[in-house]
Amino acid sequence: MTEVPYFIDIESAVALATKTLLSVGVEDVPLDEAHGRILADDLRSKVDDPPFDNSAMDGFAFIHEDTLHPPTTLKIVQTIQAGERETTQPLQPGQASRIMTGGPMPPGADSILPIERCEMNEAGNEVTLTEQGRPHFIRKQGENLKRGEVTLEKGTTLTPANVGLCATMGWPTVPVFKRAKVAILSTGDELKLPGEALEAHEIYESNSFGLAGLVDWMGHEAIRYPSVNDSMDALRSSLDTAAKECDLILTSGGVSMGEWDYVRKIMEEEGDVHFWRVKIRPGSPPLFGTWNGTPIFGLPGNPASSHVVFRVLVAPYLRASMHGGGPKEHHLMVELGEDIKGDATCLALRRISIDTSGDHPIAYSTGHQGSGNLGGVARADGLTLLSPGQPSNKGDRCRAMFL
Ligand code: AMP
Ligand code: MG
Repeated sequence: MTEVPYFIDIESAVALATKTLLSVGVEDVPLDEAHGRILADDLRSKVDDPPFDNSAMDGFAFIHEDTLHPPTTLKIVQTIQAGERETTQPLQPGQASRIMTGGPMPPGADSILPIERCEMNEAGNEVTLTEQGRPHFIRKQGENLKRGEVTLEKGTTLTPANVGLCATMGWPTVPVFKRAKVAILSTGDELKLPGEALEAHEIYESNSFGLAGLVDWMGHEAIRYPSVNDSMDALRSSLDTAAKECDLILTSGGVSMGEWDYVRKIMEEEGDVHFWRVKIRPGSPPLFGTWNGTPIFGLPGNPASSHVVFRVLVAPYLRASMHGGGPKEHHLMVELGEDIKGDATCLALRRISIDTSGDHPIAYSTGHQGSGNLGGVARADGLTLLSPGQPSNKGDRCRAMFL
């Protein structure tokens, strides 16, 4: 494996992995099921929005010229509601229409005053306007969206507002990327499922549950397989099944230098490794490659590491596979509220809480930063992005990403 890129920086690792993107299909889903999905095509509006000029206020519609010298008294000739289908009479000088928000503008009218700036007489057939009419209270046809305009681009995540926009544009269903099926395989002789009795020197298997949550958070489907013993045969058989059934494989454990690190071993001997080890701390062991043509990330076994590596390596890969869709990575600058250990060679991804109550964000360590300490991740708001050698004492500033 001499020619395999080894111990590379995270940018190179992401760049190498994204040369072998997932290709998932496309499906049409009804809007009710579109939230959180990722658009697989540019979406053009089927209509102008608004489709016709209408009133932005409950009030009166009239001819602006009539109102230049307030107060002005006008004759009320009709009432127009939202959804009004009758063709409205063109308004003549000296006339006004009562109009509700969303009601179509009567022909001839070019101005609106909201009801609270008007006084109707008791008979309800005349209105006195106390100021000039306001043309800007008319919502003009197509002022928000033009028919045929690309409003949402391929790769857009369908947030609640975007799902609403799809409806505004007249789409009952939308083309979205299928959710990727992501196999999650934990490895290790010491692993037991929660609920089972622990024998001597065994621990509860936690990575597959955390990773499944992360896959789900990215909008994909996690398939947790039973954890695999440290044996080449067991691993081969699980990898074969996962490669057949899923679009992507995530393993945890067994990718370090140890003698029982069979994921690395089997990938070297029987798979196709594209890189191994990344200059990040925690989480330096990961590898990426393919098994029977299916992309695979070998994530570290330590629970904090596997979580962090997902966020800085697997999440960008999944986003790239979805044309940028999925939850975004948000960065910010923080001031360190205490000394935090950096690293001479690696990007230091320390788990931090971020206090945003003051005039700038301040970061504190979430405690013991051991890569086995999942609690430190659970308590964290973010990760430091401390470059190799960057000073990281109390009062120093650094970039961080939100978790
Ligand atoms: P490994 O990379 O296999 O050497 O594992 C590193 C450490 O992570 C060891 O202490 C393992 O017991 C632990 N570990 C590995 N896999 C899991 C898992 N699925 N859940 C919790 N801890 C794990
Ligand atoms: Mg192991």
